[in-house]
Amino acid sequence: MKFNDKIGTLRGVGPKYEKCFNQNGIYTVGDLLYHFPRAYQNRGDIYRIIDTPMDFFPHSYILTVGSEPKAALIRRGMSILKFRAFDETGSVNITYFNQNYLKEVFTIGSTFRFWGKMTREKRTLCMSSPAYEPVIPNKRLLPLTPVYPLFNGINQKLISKLIGEVLAELDNMVDEHLPDSVLDKMNLCSLPFALKNIHTPPNENTLNASIKRLSFDELFFFALSVSQIKNEAQQYMAPCIPDTDITDYLNLLPYELTDAQARAIGEILLDLSGDGSPFVKAMNRIVVGDVGSGKTVCASIASYAVCKNGYQAALMVPTEILANQHYSSLKKDFDALGLSCELLTGSTPAREKRAILQRIENGETDFIIGTHALIQDGVEFARLGLVITDEQHRFGVRQRARLAEKSKNVHVLVMSATPIPRTLSLMIYGDLDLSLIDTMPPGRKRVDTFVVDESYRQRLNKFIRKQVEEGHRVYIVCPSVEEKESDILDFFDYNPFIIEDNDKTAIKTKAAVTYAKELKETVFPDLSVEFIHGKLEGKEKDKIMVDFAEGKIDILVSTTVIEVGVNVPNATLMIVENAERFGLSQLHQLRGRVGRGKDKSYCILVSSSENEKSKERLEIMRTVYDGYTIAERDLEMRGPGDFFSSDPSIRQSGETNLNLSKTCSDSELLHSAFECARDILSRDRTLSLPENALLKSKLNIIAEKNAKTIN
Ligand code: ADP
Ligand code: MG
Repeated sequence: MKFNDKIGTLRGVGPKYEKCFNQNGIYTVGDLLYHFPRAYQNRGDIYRIIDTPMDFFPHSYILTVGSEPKAALIRRGMSILKFRAFDETGSVNITYFNQNYLKEVFTIGSTFRFWGKMTREKRTLCMSSPAYEPVIPNKRLLPLTPVYPLFNGINQKLISKLIGEVLAELDNMVDEHLPDSVLDKMNLCSLPFALKNIHTPPNENTLNASIKRLSFDELFFFALSVSQIKNEAQQYMAPCIPDTDITDYLNLLPYELTDAQARAIGEILLDLSGDGSPFVKAMNRIVVGDVGSGKTVCASIASYAVCKNGYQAALMVPTEILANQHYSSLKKDFDALGLSCELLTGSTPAREKRAILQRIENGETDFIIGTHALIQDGVEFARLGLVITDEQHRFGVRQRARLAEKSKNVHVLVMSATPIPRTLSLMIYGDLDLSLIDTMPPGRKRVDTFVVDESYRQRLNKFIRKQVEEGHRVYIVCPSVEEKESDILDFFDYNPFIIEDNDKTAIKTKAAVTYAKELKETVFPDLSVEFIHGKLEGKEKDKIMVDFAEGKIDILVSTTVIEVGVNVPNATLMIVENAERFGLSQLHQLRGRVGRGKDKSYCILVSSSENEKSKERLEIMRTVYDGYTIAERDLEMRGPGDFFSSDPSIRQSGETNLNLSKTCSDSELLHSAFECARDILSRDRTLSLPENALLKSKLNIIAEKNAKTIN
């Protein structure tokens, strides 16, 4: 068995299962090995029946079957299997539903470790459908039982079995890729050891060591890819932009720049003109400002200056929606200034695309706005002077690498609406010069935020109706696209020692498609309800956004695709379903989608989570309105994962593969990962030394995988 063998080569995985796995990003045996448990059931503490805490939590008992299992039909299609089991202190009634075949398993006198909730009916103790493992002499039962994130069609048993098969061959399958120096410095266990023990931990300490090792791995490769790009972007020269008179543009604006905007633009223009010699040190600057602080105009004015001096400028954004929106507002400005502005995205028709590429190549186009289609092969600029990326960290690692390639010897400007905590931003953007937009345009009103639970549903629906009747639009954001029976990994609740309740149905999450349908059919049949999510075609998405902005759609049910930058001033209500599932920074971004017009706006976070930490986090949203404070708190509470990808469905397959470490709020580990990465790159920038060969190939595999996940 090899790491890269197709998952279908495993015994028991036929075409049907293979498809299920593939749909969820698991293609190879190695992918399965990296499908980590989301929790562990603590089955190690064995209770005696007499000591049952009766606390409604599941516990372990070692019991011997004392009566022959009897099956009975309780109603059509539902049978029940019943028997008694005992230990030295008492006995229990055990039942299973629709599993009569278990008769063969629970023979009288056989002993099992049962794990389940004990209840009392009248005077009898009962357990319903407990998990069970046979007690076999000389075989130790593991105290911690992994619980895997599931997806349609695949159950725990199957995953455990398959992972067991893979683990049996582990030693021939994975090699240690970290240099000894790093292992020693960080005091990490070996990769095979960590992989084995994250799936079958013999105890908590070993599990913790494995989690630490694998978290470090994720962070380290993330750090490597980021640092590599940064390294390459170092110190290029770029053409001088001598004429930085932007009065014409300023005269076009219907408003005055805020002081913060003026300062940022001043800094940018200074970079562009440099010391006035024909080639100056290339600008390498990031503009960071909260949602709605007005970064776009900084970008467009910078582009104006560059184009005015005869060079081309490119603005690259992470989604088509955003590209269209920027294009439709900025084209007007550029037209008025006598400069040409064009749009290029993945859904630009081939013929049109060829024509646009022609015009970029022969220099007719001054300013080009687009998605990562801008950096695809075949895009040749005549005189590129400036590359701007919006929300750069949302692009895949490979896109960023290409971008770096394309932007040699040009000025580079990065904009981030995600107020990334300074510690992180330093690591990600490193030595970029920073322009901070720390004030909002005047007249911005605070978006009042409320946290409610399911009991408010009716009132909430009334409120939606009221907003629509007043002529406003409403966003409803759901954590997933389509209904899956899968338990979407709740990263925040990830706790290695969480006790998983067998039959507790996790809080159901709302899915955009299903929920939109439900609202349309039952609650708002008279209103226009639509859904939008990242899996729709670019064109389709744009049409929906335009319809929404123009008022043809009243209520837009979506995933977080609307998170980045979209502007619909007349939207006054943002509802976030299962709000506990989102990162704080994400919620803050979402909240920024409303309150962009003249009317009072609201953000309502719906959550029925009883988790104390979830409640605490939502309370932060209710009371804190400053993006930086929120981001810092988010990093503290949730770890760095949320800062790197917007769509949870993308997140799972992982632009950065931050799966474990995204919950690792251990920023020291993050720092160390960056330190180690920088250290290695400083000695071997291209990772071509033989001792780094494994690192390099692993990095490439990750990059390949990432390339699949964006847009
Ligand atoms: P973001 O920083 O989130 O990208 P935008 O650039 O999209 O923010 O700006 C948000 C809104 O604020 C836009 O409608 C823009 O026209 C408006 N805006 C920007 N700067 C100012 C200003 N100085 N005064 C008034 N409105 C402004
Ligand atoms: Mg923006």
